[in-house]
Amino acid sequence: MAFEAFGVLTPAQADGLACVVCDADFLRVAVAHVPVGRSDTGSQVFACKGACALRVAEEVERLVRELRAAASEDGGAG
Ligand SMILES: [Zn+2]
Repeated sequence: MAFEAFGVLTPAQADGLACVVCDADFLRVAVAHVPVGRSDTGSQVFACKGACALRVAEEVERLVRELRAAASEDGGAG
């Protein structure tokens, strides 16, 4: 999942109560946030709309590129 690239989630992040990128506390900070995946517990997790969510998207794109490269190395496709 995307947010794993940012390390181990705090309990608040894993429960969807804090941004997985900047750790903003959604219970105290009124910031728009978007779902970016699920934690090990199955809870939906979020990142702030804007820079944080974009950073998750960039991280996902990087992981996809790495996976594609790794997959094609042994596959011999193409
Ligand atoms: Zn954030």
